[in-house]
Amino acid sequence: MDDIEPVESGRRLRQVWISHPDQIEFLMSDTRRFLCEAIELAHVNLDNGGRPFGAVIVKDGEVVARGVNEILSTNDPTAHAELVAIRSASRTFGSPDLSGCAVYASGHPCPMCMAAMRLAGVGEVHYAYSNDDGAPYGLSTAAIYADLAKPFSEQSMTIRYEPVRLQSGLDLYEAWQRKQAARS
Ligand SMILES: [Zn+2]
Repeated sequence: MDDIEPVESGRRLRQVWISHPDQIEFLMSDTRRFLCEAIELAHVNLDNGGRPFGAVIVKDGEVVARGVNEILSTNDPTAHAELVAIRSASRTFGSPDLSGCAVYASGHPCPMCMAAMRLAGVGEVHYAYSNDDGAPYGLSTAAIYADLAKPFSEQSMTIRYEPVRLQSGLDLYEAWQRKQAARS
C-alpha cells in the first residue's frame, strides 16, 4: 500500500511517494536526505531565475555549507553551485582545507568543480542527476570531460607550454621556496 512521507530538505517541503518498504530506508538515508536538499536548492534557484543546480557540503553528518548556481545573477562563469558551496565552507572553517567533507550535488559536477573539490581535499562526492540525465536538456559537461582527457595538443582550446623566465632577480619558484623555508 502506498504511503506519503514528507521529506524535509531545503526551504520547501515536498511529498515523496513511498511504494516499497525498501524505499523507506533509502529515503531516510543521509545520502538521500542530502541529495534531496541539493535538488530542493536547485528548484528554489530555478524559481528565482537561476540555473537548476544546487549543492550542499557535509562534515560529520551535518550540512556546513550550501550553494546554488549563481552564473546568471552574477555573470561569474565560475559561480557553480559546488564552487559557491566550497567558498562558503572554506570561509566558515577559515581554511582552504575541506578534508573530511563530502559534497552532495544535484547534478554531475563539471570538471572545474571536480578539480576544485580535489584541490580542497573533499573526499566524497555524490550527485543525483548524471550527465546522461542532463544531456537532453543541454545540461551535460560530458563533452568537456572528453576534451580534457585528450593530450593538450589535441584539445579544442590552445594550450602551450612557453618556458619564459624573467631576465633578472630570483626565479619565481625559488623565491617561493625561500619564503616557505623562512616560515618554517
Ligand atoms: Zn561546475
